[in-house]
Amino acid sequence: MANCMKFIYKRILLKMSGEVIKGVDKVNFKNCLIYNIVKEIRFLVKNGIEISLVIGGGNLFRGSFLSKLGINRVSSDYIGMLSTIINGLFLKDIFERYNIPVCLMSSITIDNVCKKYNLEKAMKLLSNSVVIIFCGGMGNPFFTTDSAACVRAIETNSDIIFKGTKVNGIYSQDPNKYPDAFFYKKLNYQDVLQKEFKVMDLTAFILARDYNIPVHIFNIYHNNILSRILQGNTEGTLITS
Ligand code: UDP
Repeated sequence: MANCMKFIYKRILLKMSGEVIKGVDKVNFKNCLIYNIVKEIRFLVKNGIEISLVIGGGNLFRGSFLSKLGINRVSSDYIGMLSTIINGLFLKDIFERYNIPVCLMSSITIDNVCKKYNLEKAMKLLSNSVVIIFCGGMGNPFFTTDSAACVRAIETNSDIIFKGTKVNGIYSQDPNKYPDAFFYKKLNYQDVLQKEFKVMDLTAFILARDYNIPVHIFNIYHNNILSRILQGNTEGTLITS
């Protein structure tokens, strides 16, 4: 039955904030929702979808927070990038426990901990149904993992960037404050920029626009959301040209 499923994309890149690694009681690595997502990814990979992930580090450290404490910005950002590697190791372990072929690749080299980022290898692994977890961001300070997601998606010829968030997609106003806020099912890059919707950091978003890669924003806490979007259901907000 599962093999009859039709999907609208073949290769996707999923960007997840480090926040997904915090559990219900806000403790890192404990009782977090990531297990549901990993199970869904296992199903999709078995059904021919090629998946890479970019994991953030905001559950542990963000450079902007540390620099406010007086730490040099470059060091702050490296601490942030190292946080993404810690999260990547945690994710890799879960994938292995679920018997999903996985490779953790980092833009920052730490021998014995993870593989060094290599595009050629990543492409081969993806076409062999191995899930790639990209960590270490871009490997440079002053960026975020949103930028890493856009760069890796473009490099790996992914069909789309899936950005899993805590919200359902893009509303005209904050739906918690304005219950009649309008929900956008589709937007184009220009609208997002003009209306100053906070989809991802601006550098990253401009890159997505310039390379014409669609961005789909959705609530990652909804069960089976990846499968539903991949089957063409209109959930979340799709941003295209
Ligand atoms: N970071 C960086 N360069 C990058 C990616 C990330 O300096 O290419 C640092 C930055 O300090 C950032 C932190 O790593 O705040 C964690 O990443 P991010 O804030 O994107 O994580 P998320 O919010 O997605 O969990």
